[in-house]
Amino acid sequence: MAKERTLSIVKPDATRRNLTEKINARFTARGLKIVAQKRLQLSRAEAEKFYAVHRERPFFSGLVTFMISGPVVVQVLEGENAIALNREIMGATDPAKAAPGTIRKDFAESIEANSVHGSDSAETAKREIAFFFPDI
Ligand code: ATP
Ligand code: MG
Repeated sequence: MAKERTLSIVKPDATRRNLTEKINARFTARGLKIVAQKRLQLSRAEAEKFYAVHRERPFFSGLVTFMISGPVVVQVLEGENAIALNREIMGATDPAKAAPGTIRKDFAESIEANSVHGSDSAETAKREIAFFFPDI
C-alpha cells in the first residue's frame, strides 16, 4: 500500500444539517488526515464541469441543481490507500444499499442527496484535487 490523496466533498444535504464535523470524525478515526479543506458555494458551471463525466446520465441536471443548493466542504484526504479506504468509509451510492457504519448508511437522505463525494480512482483523484486545490 502507498500513501495517497483523494478528493472528498461534504455535499449540501450534509452541510445543511451541520454534519461536517461528524463526517470528518469518520475519516480521522480510520487514519485519514484532512490536509486541505475549504467551504464554498459551487456555481452551476463549476458543478457541471466537476460532474461532466455524468452529463449524459438521466440524473445529471438534478445532481447539478442539488450540488448548488447550498455550500459544500471540499477537502483533500491523505493516508495509506486513501482512495479505496475513503470509498469504504462512504459506503454505496444508494444509502439503502450502503453497509452499516458507513457515512451514507448513517447520514444520506437519498441516492442523490448522499452526503459525500469521493474520488473513484488515482487518475480521478489527481484531476479532482487539481480542480479545487490547484496549488497543493
Ligand atoms: P460520487 O461520485 O458523488 O462520489 P458515486 O461515485 O458513489 O458518488 P456516481 O455514480 O459517480 O456515484 O454518481 C455521482 C452522484 O450522482 C452520486 O453520488 C449521487 O449524488 C448522484 N446519483 C448517482 N446515481 C443517481 C441516481 N440514480 N439518481 C439520482 N442521483 C444519482
Ligand atoms: Mg463517482
